[in-house]
Order: sequence, then structure tokens, then C-alpha cells
Amino acid sequence: MEISKSFIDITEKIGKDINLVQGPGGNISFKSNGFMYIKASGEKMSDAKNKNIFVKTDHKKILSSLKNNDPDPIKNCWDKNSLMRPSIETTMHALMPHKYVLHVHCVNTLSWVTQKNYQKKIKNFLHGINWKSVPYIKPGINLSNEINKIIRESIVDVIFLGNHGIVAGAESAESVFEIVKKISEKLYISELEKMEIDLKKFNKYLLCREYKLPKNEYVHQIAFSKIHSLIATKGDLFPDQTVFLENGLIIINSLEELTMLSKSRTNKLPVVLIPNVGILVPRIFKDVNEDTLVGLSMIISRLPKDVLLNYLTKEERNELINWDLEIHRKTLNN
Ligand SMILES: [Zn+2]
Repeated sequence: MEISKSFIDITEKIGKDINLVQGPGGNISFKSNGFMYIKASGEKMSDAKNKNIFVKTDHKKILSSLKNNDPDPIKNCWDKNSLMRPSIETTMHALMPHKYVLHVHCVNTLSWVTQKNYQKKIKNFLHGINWKSVPYIKPGINLSNEINKIIRESIVDVIFLGNHGIVAGAESAESVFEIVKKISEKLYISELEKMEIDLKKFNKYLLCREYKLPKNEYVHQIAFSKIHSLIATKGDLFPDQTVFLENGLIIINSLEELTMLSKSRTNKLPVVLIPNVGILVPRIFKDVNEDTLVGLSMIISRLPKDVLLNYLTKEERNELINWDLEIHRKTLNN
């Protein structure tokens, strides 16, 4: 496959930056001679050097299917010898007029795009950038239709996706990475103060064998702020939370409560927040669940106390849970 080493290097670098990418989230593409190479669904950008994670798609065909309002515009548009399928967000990449397109669930960006009326607040950080925004809509063809409207009306290099992330385009892989990285840095304001974790305090809760300590200590921070704990347990802020933290987060105050919970919700155990102690995760938690939890805690840690948030609605959550393409992504990460 005609993919340059520098493109692979940049993909891996982005994939390893936890501020930008958590687990299999995010995707990158480039267009060449009527084709578009895009990250496969469910694969991780951080694996770019270890194995092939890209699928070659017929860019011209995707664009004409989109023009004809084909309900499945990527159908028969990729190399059938590939065992992988192109990213759920292929049509969004295809529509962006740039040669290189990068889409990430950047935590600094998400700490803004989950807020009500965030556009007014971020304006001052974005001088010199051609940007627009779209409200939350199911990723895939629905989101692409919204992106299409924006692209037809104006010159735009960056689009903020409500409760989802950011997509940017440029004429080189280096510059698209630079744009996203710079925006991410500008949108970082502050985060919760780092609290010292006392691991001994977990001992009694760990008597409940259904739970274990999370891999990354960072996630404990939100359990030390009442407001941020409530934010975490109130609902879903972005699609990967719905898909990979599907049993939610809950506050518990005693071992009794935890034992009761583990009995009543056997196969659907939520993440638990223990106020001023930290967080425990279900024993069956996989890497993808851990990575999504790190992302969520990074986003929540960056929110101001008086924040007004948009959560995904029940309907929006259901359309993700029952979506065959998300089920595919989930299966690959189990
Ligand atoms: Zn996305």
C-alpha cells in the first residue's frame, strides 16, 4: 500500500497522545489519485507502526454516492481483500476538501464542546483559524450531511463537533497535526488539583471481588470533588462514553452499598466513585474501557464548577447502543 513512513509516524504519534486519542477513538486519512486511505474501524492509531490499520477506499465513488443520497455511501467502496472496514467517520473525511484530514476526541476540546454556548467562549482562542461548529448529531452519515452543508457555504479548515470532538484538514499530515495540537493547547485552561491517593483506603472496598483498581491513577481525581462526581454520574457526555462505559458511573458511600450493587447488577456493573477515596472499576474492565474512563476523567477535570453542560439524550444514547457499526467496533476491542 502506498502509505509514506512519515504519515505512519505521525499517525502513531497522535495515537499515543492521550490528550488527543483514547483507545480506538479518532481517525486520520489522506486522499491520493481518486482514492482515500483511512484508518479502519476499531483499530488504534497508536498501532500504526505495528500493523496495517488503513483501508484504501474509492474516494470518487464515495463522493458520488453521497451526492446521490445513497443511504450507505461507503458500500462497495473499499478493497474487499481487506479484512478491515473503513472508519465509521469515512464520509466526513471524504467530504472535507483537504488532502489530509484528522478527527480526534481531544479532551481539551471536549471540555468545551460539551458546554452550552461554548462557541462564544472559545472564539478568542481561535484567531486566524477558519472554523465552524455543528451541534451533536449521530456520527456517520447524519454528521456528514451537516458537515456537507458547512463546506458548501464557506471555507473551513476546522469543525468543532458538539459533544464529540474536532475535525481538521490541511495539505500535509504535519500541518493538520499542528493545527489540532495548537487548538488543543489553546483550549486547555486548568484541571482539578492533583490529590494524593491513599491506596489503603481502598482495601475494605476491594473485599468486593467484582471490583478492582483502575490502571491509571489520574481517574481518581474526580472523586475528590462533589460537583465533578455529580457531573460524571449524571449522564453521557460523548459517544465513546456510551459505547465503552455503557454501565455508567455511580457514587457509593460504603462497602455495604457496593456489595448490594454487585449483587443487583451482576452483569451490568457500573464504575463506582467513592467520595474522597477514589474510583473502582469492574473486574472485567478491558483496556478500551480503561482508556475511555481516562478520557472522561480528563474532560471532567477540566470543567469549571459552574459549568452548564449538554448531555446526550436517551434517544441519542439508544441510537449508538443499537448501531451495528458501533457493535462491530466494540467486538474488535473485546
Ligand atoms: Zn469521532
